[in-house]
Amino acid sequence: MIHTTTVLTKQIVTSNISIAPNVYLLSFKRSFSFVPGQWIAIGLYPTDTPRLYSIASGIHNDEINILYDIKPDGALTPNMATLKKGDSIYISKPDGSFYTETGKAWWIATGTGIAPFKAMLDSGLGKDKKLIHGGKSLQSFYFEKEFSDVMGESYIRCCSRENGDIEYNGRVTDYLKQQEQLPSNEKYYLCGSSEMVVEVRDILVNKAVPFGNIIAEIYF
Ligand SMILES: Cc1cc2nc3c(=O)[nH]c(=O)nc-3n(C[C@H](O)[C@H](O)[C@H](O)COP(=O)(O)OP(=O)(O)OC[C@H]3O[C@@H](n4cnc5c(N)ncnc54)[C@H](O)[C@@H]3O)c2cc1C
Repeated sequence: MIHTTTVLTKQIVTSNISIAPNVYLLSFKRSFSFVPGQWIAIGLYPTDTPRLYSIASGIHNDEINILYDIKPDGALTPNMATLKKGDSIYISKPDGSFYTETGKAWWIATGTGIAPFKAMLDSGLGKDKKLIHGGKSLQSFYFEKEFSDVMGESYIRCCSRENGDIEYNGRVTDYLKQQEQLPSNEKYYLCGSSEMVVEVRDILVNKAVPFGNIIAEIYF
């Protein structure tokens, strides 16, 4: 958890672009090392109560990317969306322990929960992974080209509120329920809302995946 005493350092925004309705990608120069899957806390002022964001870019990239959606009436994100190149933000050191190893595993995300998996993909960890990404609309599959180029048929888009020419029309949870068998010896990495994580965890456990093979990052 982030504490009010956490040290925040100033960074200069290099870009902040809308990549889908209400969804933005914020960038600034990388001046630190991190482990793919980690998050940083961000505030617009040193006195802000910062919010946590997964890093959505690779460990060797020149820039750090942050993927975020605007929460209506939120304290940070509506203001964060107005940032322009040259503006300042304040960030913490990277932290967190949501880390994927090399080898076979499942990545399961909804919405902006795709962010840590983008960091993992861009850090060379996409091989042998299966990615299930849930989104409400066909515009919710952020970084779909990048994931598709590396992961091919192992990249499954599940769209819950629109039909389209994608791998699965329906919710991530329905996709998982429909799988006859899920490998019990592989790890499952979940990232998204607490509702999604709880529901997916129940489905996996019911399909004989050991509880210890399920690793979750909950966005609250
Ligand atoms: C480890 C971690 C990583 C995360 N990574 C990401 C990421 O990569 N991308 C991302 O988009 N998000 C991420 N999040 C979520 C993110 O930290 C923020 O929660 C989110 O962006 C909140 O934005 P905000 O400050 O604008 O909204 P907040 O001010 O937190 O408000 C959120 C919503 O709650 C409502 N609300 C606020 N206060 C109250 C109240 N007292 N009563 C009722 N309703 C209220 C607001 O109206 C708003 O709709 C992550 C969270 C965690 C824990």
